[in-house]
Amino acid sequence: MDHFAYQNGALHAEDVALATIAEQVGTPCYVYSSATLRRHAQVFAAGLAAVPAKHIAFAVKSNPNLAVLRLLASEGYGADVVSAGEMDRALAAGIPGADIVFSGVGKTADELTRALKAGVGQFNLESEEEGVELAQIAAGLGMTAQAALRVNPDVDAKTHAKISTGMAENKFGVAYDRAAGIYARLSVLPGLTMRGLAVHIGSQLSQLKPLEDAFTKMGALMRAIRANGQTITHMDLGGGVGVPYKDGENFPTPADYGAMVARVTADWGVTLMFEPGRVIAGNSGVLITRVVRVKEGVTHPFVIVDAAMNDLARPALYGAWHDFWAVTPNGERFTANIVGPICESSDTFAMGREIDVVKAGDLAVFRTAGAYGATMANTYNSRALVPEVMVEGDKWAIVAQRIDPATILAAEQVPDWLK
Ligand SMILES: *Cc1c(COP(=O)(O)O)cnc(C)c1O
Repeated sequence: MDHFAYQNGALHAEDVALATIAEQVGTPCYVYSSATLRRHAQVFAAGLAAVPAKHIAFAVKSNPNLAVLRLLASEGYGADVVSAGEMDRALAAGIPGADIVFSGVGKTADELTRALKAGVGQFNLESEEEGVELAQIAAGLGMTAQAALRVNPDVDAKTHAKISTGMAENKFGVAYDRAAGIYARLSVLPGLTMRGLAVHIGSQLSQLKPLEDAFTKMGALMRAIRANGQTITHMDLGGGVGVPYKDGENFPTPADYGAMVARVTADWGVTLMFEPGRVIAGNSGVLITRVVRVKEGVTHPFVIVDAAMNDLARPALYGAWHDFWAVTPNGERFTANIVGPICESSDTFAMGREIDVVKAGDLAVFRTAGAYGATMANTYNSRALVPEVMVEGDKWAIVAQRIDPATILAAEQVPDWLK
């Protein structure tokens, strides 16, 4: 459920007309609904009510906007970060270091050092080598790092190959069969407290079965490690729960997910950690765009919009679907191709799709753009970095300014020898 709906024929975010935001901020522009973010945060937590001890860390990479992190912090969420830059955002949003989980396959020595000094609560180690390095750095600082070992359970998440992370050939975590040995060796290092295992098999999962298979394998590994005499007090189950991008698609609910987790982990005796991203932020945002013009095509007309693959990369990256709604639909529909202005054929949002009839100057939105949207934006074709707005009831505010091409140009210079 989200809070983007028509009132008197005009699309609103909560009680704010999207046309008002478009006029004052310009397009393209992301708009987030506070009520939707809050609702998703609460529904996800409520789904886990049967889990006695838990820690929920929002996956910052899905939407790192400072205001979004602040809102989720006020809902009691911690943060799952994959770089020092994301850690700094989480800290700036008021999330205590102790509630931050540091994930990521290539943390540098500098990042590990900074995270230790910031009091990060858990490091999810992606290799034995990383664990040895973290232990050395922590011992050198007179500190002890709390760590979990990320394991690759070799489970097919049945999602898009580019966001699948838990198959043996993926770069993430350590091989399942080697994990117990690595855990034992890391457990004896000064500077490191090994406290658990972590798993994350991919994103936009549409079924619970791969997650259940992965968690079941992790439970067996946990028991084997305990039988070896090592301690496990925390198990990090990652993120990955998918969201519907198309009207009418059916996805497991947070309650279904929570029930499965509670059943599989009933006798684990640990604090469970979660790292949801998309399921919290995805349906909380839209990207407003204005139609530049409609041009005739061979089969279908091309609706050329002022948003492009640099603003919303998912269709170009993964062939992803985002519903397209006119802001003030006139009730008529037509079949069209929706494209951006960038000089690449991959700058295509939809081909041969039935949509509201739109014409030059009309406003429309791409829905379900709150996760992996603005955060993947870039300035390709010397376009602006897209701005972000947050709505709360009848209030709204810019939460990320548009960064104009002139500002980016100002950071470049011609070397002396070319002057
Ligand atoms: C991306 C990621 C997440 C969040 O995934 P979602 O599909 O957005 O829930 C969680 N944990 C790790 C380690 C990740 O890389």
